[in-house]
Amino acid sequence: MDRIKMDWHTQSVEHALKKMESTVQGLTSAQASVRLIQYGTNELEEKEKKPGWYLFLNQFKDFMILVLIIAAIVAGIAGDLTDTIIILFIVLLNAIVGFIQEYNAEKAMDALKKMATLHAEVMREGILIRTTSTLLVPGDVVLLEAGNTVPADLRIIESHSLRVDESALTGESIAVDKYIQELHEENLPLGDRINLAYKGTIITLGRGKGLVVSTGMKTEIGKIARLLQVDDPVTPLQKRMTDFGKKLSYIILLICALLFGAGMLRGEEPMKMLLLAISLAVAAIPEALPALITVALAKGANRMVKKNALIRKLPAIETLGSVSYICSDKTGTLTINKMKVVKMYEKDSQPLHGQLVSPLLAAMALNHDVKKKTDKSLSGDPTEVALVDFVIEKMGSSCINELTLQLPRVAELPFDSERKCMTTVHRLGNQYIIFSKGAVEYISEKLLHRDHSEEINAMASSWGQGGLRVLAFASKIIDHLPETISYATIEKELIYAGLAGMMDPPREEVKVAIQDCKTAGIKPVMITGDHATTAAAIAIDIGILNPGDLVMTGVELEIMSEESLNEKVEKISVYARVSPAQKMRIIKSLQQKNHFVAMTGDGVNDAPSLKAANIGVAMGITGTDVSKEASHMILLDDNFATIVKAIREGRRIYDNIRKFVKYIMTCNSAEIWTIFLAPLIGLPMPLLPIHILWINLVTDGLPGIALASEKAERDIMNLPPRNPSESLFAKGIAYHILWVGLLMAGITLGVQAWAINAGLDHWQTMVFTVLSLTQLGHVLSIRSDREFLFQQGIFTNTPLLGAVLLTGGLQLMVIYLPLANEIFHTQPLSLNELGICVGASALLFHAVEFEKWLKGKFNQNK
Ligand code: ATP
Repeated sequence: MDRIKMDWHTQSVEHALKKMESTVQGLTSAQASVRLIQYGTNELEEKEKKPGWYLFLNQFKDFMILVLIIAAIVAGIAGDLTDTIIILFIVLLNAIVGFIQEYNAEKAMDALKKMATLHAEVMREGILIRTTSTLLVPGDVVLLEAGNTVPADLRIIESHSLRVDESALTGESIAVDKYIQELHEENLPLGDRINLAYKGTIITLGRGKGLVVSTGMKTEIGKIARLLQVDDPVTPLQKRMTDFGKKLSYIILLICALLFGAGMLRGEEPMKMLLLAISLAVAAIPEALPALITVALAKGANRMVKKNALIRKLPAIETLGSVSYICSDKTGTLTINKMKVVKMYEKDSQPLHGQLVSPLLAAMALNHDVKKKTDKSLSGDPTEVALVDFVIEKMGSSCINELTLQLPRVAELPFDSERKCMTTVHRLGNQYIIFSKGAVEYISEKLLHRDHSEEINAMASSWGQGGLRVLAFASKIIDHLPETISYATIEKELIYAGLAGMMDPPREEVKVAIQDCKTAGIKPVMITGDHATTAAAIAIDIGILNPGDLVMTGVELEIMSEESLNEKVEKISVYARVSPAQKMRIIKSLQQKNHFVAMTGDGVNDAPSLKAANIGVAMGITGTDVSKEASHMILLDDNFATIVKAIREGRRIYDNIRKFVKYIMTCNSAEIWTIFLAPLIGLPMPLLPIHILWINLVTDGLPGIALASEKAERDIMNLPPRNPSESLFAKGIAYHILWVGLLMAGITLGVQAWAINAGLDHWQTMVFTVLSLTQLGHVLSIRSDREFLFQQGIFTNTPLLGAVLLTGGLQLMVIYLPLANEIFHTQPLSLNELGICVGASALLFHAVEFEKWLKGKFNQNK
């Protein structure tokens, strides 16, 4: 029978399992392998990838390139065909370089996307394993947990308060409770099939299990998947660059038109003049810059993933450099998330009726979702693992097994971070026993005798001051289960059982990272669900909370007006007992104060604040799917220090983008000045079209690309965050492009005038060489904005050094190889002539180094 077409909601759990030839223990690995071949992977087909040839042809789509090709062909037919062939060859080479770059960037992005694929926990032969959700097959039994995305279409077979947000599929914004009972009506709309869960929807509450009934394109979302696919957005930087490029093109086209007009007036050959003007336009219009920026960002993302920061959205790299606040969760991000119970207080050490252990120990042993892995180690929420470990240490693991058998769980109210409590109900003879554990304030509210509250609170508070995380426990015996199991009916009139104090030490590298933040003008802030005293103790220890800083609790935040929050927000270093929803207010308030906020989050309710933050940071290990999907960046090691590393890397990448924009634009400016000024000062056309194209492709291109590998400036983390609205040409770059361009042209034209005066026949080759070599001097000098080349060391960017040597070598070839002489219309220079070219070009290098010195002096005086 066709399993895929069944109305699974009308089947009972037993029937569904039987039809799927599966059991609650899941499939065997062999069955799963066979089905994977039969049904294919559980993937939605991606929008058809653009083939390589398309990407290649795309390199020619630029209007000016097309004009150049046509002009070259026309000129060739009219006159010299070698020029035409060479121009076409250079254009082709340009396209090949562009293609390779883009292709590599695309591959890098694909690899990053793959790393971000979701995982699922699946039962195979009774053992729980974690696998990428693409490997799920019909018949698999998967675990469902709040915060995760439903990995395939499922028939629910176990549900504990399971609730699913199906808005992605049905548009219905209210989450749907899920049950296991079969339904009898066949033609129900998807949203009413409340015992099914659909791929791509989100579990917002509870936990449970589901039987996979369809995968991949056969799922409901698969049927509409093609409608959902959107193109990758362009980054703000790319957009600004494209807009800027357009405006600049008009100016350059105007200059080229003037140049052509002036040439005609002077009686130059029209076809030669046209080709020159067009070549100049091609060389000077920075049409490749947006693509180069993407390449730099994609390569940067690739480097960052090696440092455990997985970038999900490219624009995040640009924005990282502007972060002025990092709001971080405490548990797991600032601390190591390996808890250990170090203190315990039992209110009542009398053994539980018919058992050997006290209510506190029984609650620790039974109220949790910890699972045993194949290697017998425990997996689950580290808080709960610590409690179970503690009981095992005290009573032995057989005690837990016995308790689990004798007090079987009949119901549970899962933990959620808004309520900060978890409750389980167990059969105890012919009665029931309730165990609750949670935040001290919550539990003490639910006690039968409130007179314990003060005592509990005082003790918890003193433990908290020592940095311990404190959990309160309570229990109660009831005769009958209430009709509905809910917080209201179960979590009330409890009897206090005791406290557990847990140690979760800060991560070692965090203290240094926090100091780094401070020198970099970034304020680190702790936002935690934990108690204020615990949070404050840890915040002081790691350096987040300093004298004069404030600690604020969720309760205080709740009643605080927007105005007073805005007033205080820059002084607050710790937010404690905050619910995920309140994180939103904190972000908004900081953003009102013009801050750029990075915010971490791991839970299902963190998604809105991760989206609202300028950089939403999700946890790779403990984070839920929802938080990852909402984030801009994922920390593969959940570590705060990684955020700081990512910021450093983001600043470096942005700096380097600025450097290569500066380099390429200065080259272009030099070319324009040279060609434009020569006739004005009465000199003949200094360069041939082919020379301009060569400089554009080789001299500009190779070292420019290598600038992206430049290491971070030594003081990169001693500077304040970059103003997000700052232009790419700020900080004197526009000015640099103009003056250095003009100086290069000045040197080049100076050599030209001198050589013509001295009657040297090789003046054009000298002009070509000087313009090329000044670029190389320039690239060496702008590697750092502040340090001189000798301070930086010539070998600290080997790709760039290689590019400079290669370009220099190629230039020598163009001058000295007879074949190249013919093609490029050059002549071999004498040693003297070459020496003059090198000497003149070196002037530029020194001028730019001198500019750094002047700037340094100026800044010192300021
Ligand atoms: P952070 O937001 O820094 O990661 P957190 O992990 O302490 O902090 P939550 O997980 O929301 O934040 O926990 C908040 C509080 O809920 C804890 O201080 C504790 O009192 C209680 N709590 C945490 N885990 C459990 C659990 N498994 N069962 C019951 N209560 C819990």
